[in-house]
Amino acid sequence: MKTLSPDRPILVVGAGIAGLTVALALAERGFAVSVLERARTLEEVGAGLQLSPNATRILDRLGVVERLRAASVQPEAIVLRRARSLREIARVPLGAAAVARWGAPYLTVHRADLQNALVARVQREPSIRLLTGATVRDAAYHARGVTLSVDHAGAVIEAAGDLVIAADGVWSTMRGTEGKQRSAFSGLTAWRTTLQRGSAAERQDPVLSGAVVTAFLHPRFHLVSYPIRAGQAVNLVAVTRGAALSQSWSVPASKDELAAALSRAPALARLVGDAGPWTRWPLHTVDPDGPWTSARGIALIGDAAHATTPFAAQGAAMAIEDADVLAEALHRNRDDFPAGLARYERERKPRVKRVVRRGAFNRFVWHASGPIALGRDIVLRLRSPERTLGDFDWLYGWRSA
Ligand SMILES: Cc1cc2nc3c(=O)[nH]c(=O)nc-3n(C[C@H](O)[C@H](O)[C@H](O)COP(=O)(O)OP(=O)(O)OC[C@H]3O[C@@H](n4cnc5c(N)ncnc54)[C@H](O)[C@@H]3O)c2cc1C
Repeated sequence: MKTLSPDRPILVVGAGIAGLTVALALAERGFAVSVLERARTLEEVGAGLQLSPNATRILDRLGVVERLRAASVQPEAIVLRRARSLREIARVPLGAAAVARWGAPYLTVHRADLQNALVARVQREPSIRLLTGATVRDAAYHARGVTLSVDHAGAVIEAAGDLVIAADGVWSTMRGTEGKQRSAFSGLTAWRTTLQRGSAAERQDPVLSGAVVTAFLHPRFHLVSYPIRAGQAVNLVAVTRGAALSQSWSVPASKDELAAALSRAPALARLVGDAGPWTRWPLHTVDPDGPWTSARGIALIGDAAHATTPFAAQGAAMAIEDADVLAEALHRNRDDFPAGLARYERERKPRVKRVVRRGAFNRFVWHASGPIALGRDIVLRLRSPERTLGDFDWLYGWRSA
């Protein structure tokens, strides 16, 4: 049987949300961990994130939420509006209602604030070693475990362990070393910017006021806004149809192009012009049906295993859930870690696939047109808040087995 030895670290590739969370969840269960991250510094990449209670429950237990308190916002509600008329279609109460119903807060944060909080926790764990500027190129599996080949400080070094966890994102190198499938372009582009509260653009815009997550819906696009940075900034993300660009989170983008894409919603097109600079990135997905583990000693987690479109706002949350379930499965199967890997994959796949299906449903509903959009508005308006909240119980009320 393949066992996890106490004196050899578990290797984690990538110090994004998945990698840092799995390191903490493993350390909590007494494992030694080495995290290898390509970036030299963990900089402010990406944009805002909505962290739903299924994720904050885990982050709270790991001591991360307390470090996020000052920077995060607890929005009062999610509001759906028509992008053209700005008319409200539906409202899902959050704030205290979320805590009462799901036992943990719904938060909005800047990705950098979450990453900083995770790194601060990691740095307090003596059993976690975080090496930045370390790009993993390849993996060799042998009877005594796995050896990674790593570019670091101008040299090639090796890192050895019993097991490797690939948390290296949608364009995962590790998924490639296993000969697994490539990501696919979804046909959608995400655009994002951050507005400072009190800036001219923000003051002029009535639809941005209040501590709420707002999704403006249109058959050709949607735009989501929510407060971050303790309410001092507003995160804006638009999703439009678009061409595949580079494999990067943030490419500088043309304001005019985005304003043209949103021209059927004049108030939002104006907002695009007033705000900025905007960055854009192509939305790639990874088929969740592919294999996530191999008994040779690898597990994929987060976007590396199942990147999806942001329509359910659950990518980071799924990465956090993966991390916790994998750590627990390895803990319960220390003497037979392939059994732990199989358990992780068995437990996680149905859940992740259900979330991917919910995202596809949201995409259909959010971008609906004509009679379907009218029907949507009527159904949503007639629903009681209680019924609307109940729809999210399976998602936000989730707890690991
Ligand atoms: C527009 C948009 C909005 C979103 N909004 C939400 C939301 O509101 N809520 C939510 O839950 N999710 C959201 N998501 C999804 C979420 O951002 C991702 O699912 C999440 O960031 C994935 O985390 P990860 O750690 O798996 O990957 P990443 O964050 O991509 O981290 C991967 C890490 O691995 C490192 N790396 C890569 N290759 C190597 C290598 N060879 N060697 C060493 N290191 C390497 C990278 O540098 C990086 O640090 C959104 C996504 C998009 C695009």
